[in-house]
Amino acid sequence: MPKKSPPTRRRALQKNKTSAPQKLLASQPKILIFDVDGVLVDVSGTYWRSALETVRYLTGERVTYAELHKWKSKPGFNDDWSMVAAWVTALGKPLSYEEARVAFERFYWGSDGKPGNVRNERILVSPAQIEKWAQRCELNLFTGRTRQEFSYTFAGWPATKYFRTIVTMDDARKKPHPDGLKMILGGRDPATALYLGDNIDDALAARDAGVPFFAIIARNEHRYRERAAQFRELGAVALLPRARELNRMLG
Ligand SMILES: [Mg+2]
Repeated sequence: MPKKSPPTRRRALQKNKTSAPQKLLASQPKILIFDVDGVLVDVSGTYWRSALETVRYLTGERVTYAELHKWKSKPGFNDDWSMVAAWVTALGKPLSYEEARVAFERFYWGSDGKPGNVRNERILVSPAQIEKWAQRCELNLFTGRTRQEFSYTFAGWPATKYFRTIVTMDDARKKPHPDGLKMILGGRDPATALYLGDNIDDALAARDAGVPFFAIIARNEHRYRERAAQFRELGAVALLPRARELNRMLG
């Protein structure tokens, strides 16, 4: 028997893919807010790898990136330490948040003279691109990084000066709480802003702050269809494969 035409969800995905993003927003955003990891920085070899190595080390199980994305698609697990604690516990080895943090940091920062995965860090957007965006919009950051993790990479980056407000894990309740977005807005109309993030906790924070949300997700990523559908359900205005695609919207 031949298969029937694809389900409605697939048609919706295709439709959204070809829509011009500027038609999806009521007006040009004045305030751009970026998540850092997965948006401005490639985290597959740093945070994600550290999480996998931590879970493998603590449980002896050969866990995979596909499983990681399954965990990442649950609320509260933008924070890798929370995710690792829950994941290791689910595999039969009860682990607290603090224990997860300590174990994770050995892989992230390195230990016993061995360099950590932080050395793999790679910024995905050029300083020239950030400068161009800054000429049109006010730029801000809302990240789940600690201030220390943020500074390690961004203190010496020439484009950091273009961001007006930088909210880290040390400055506000972490995502999915919308507090960081509200701090950045400071009472201004959330509809004039736009938040770009790559995790469900980003989408939840944006929804609760009333800020339009663009999800950063590439088609070749693990669990693309499930995650894309989840972002749409949470009200994502558009799905972009990378932050640079924002240029299509700003014209
Ligand atoms: Mg992120």
